Amino acid sequence: MRGPGTTADDTPARAFAALVDQVQACRRCPRMDERARVLSAANGREGARVLFVAEAPGRLGAERTRVPLQGDQTGRNFEALLASIGLDRAEVFITNAVLCNPQDAFGRNSPPTREEVARCARHLESTLDVIAPEVVVTLGRVALEALRHIEDHAFTLALDVGQRREWAGRVLIPMYHPGARARVHRPLERQLEDFRELARVLGRTLQHSV
Ligand code: SF4
Repeated sequence: MRGPGTTADDTPARAFAALVDQVQACRRCPRMDERARVLSAANGREGARVLFVAEAPGRLGAERTRVPLQGDQTGRNFEALLASIGLDRAEVFITNAVLCNPQDAFGRNSPPTREEVARCARHLESTLDVIAPEVVVTLGRVALEALRHIEDHAFTLALDVGQRREWAGRVLIPMYHPGARARVHRPLERQLEDFRELARVLGRTLQHSV
């Protein structure tokens, strides 16, 4: 699963810099021409043990801040979930199934299309190769589906949420998206339980919970 432009001799830092350059130059999706490509050192560090995949940058969040899951209510929800198991951004890597903010004709957030997810999956695959996390956490249905472009699976949020699974030689934990809408399907207390499972996989001792 080696991404384009990376070789076995690359250091992770060089490989990541090459990947960022490829992403910043990517113009594969016509409606993303004016959007930020949200992949940079601000996403996290190489060698992070856990990599989160969300859906896409939000208009008021990462499109503005250039940092995934930061700057809007969804980002604050995510940071609270991270903090509940004593993690912070410096310890993890965060990315999206689609690296640009999809907007409708009125400039509002819209879901990425299947084609956009499929096109951006090669960047996600390269990111997994370079960061090489032990654990992948998908946040929402789109992120879970995006993994199927890299290595097929039959996991669903309905059946597998919060459970540790094996995928592509890594531990996968499917979770719901931290946005407000997902709390209809997965209340906060259940999302906190999902993060406690992540803590157990990482071997972290929890001092407290929120
Ligand atoms: S969404 Fe992904 S594939 Fe599409 S233009 Fe942006 S970086 Fe390229």
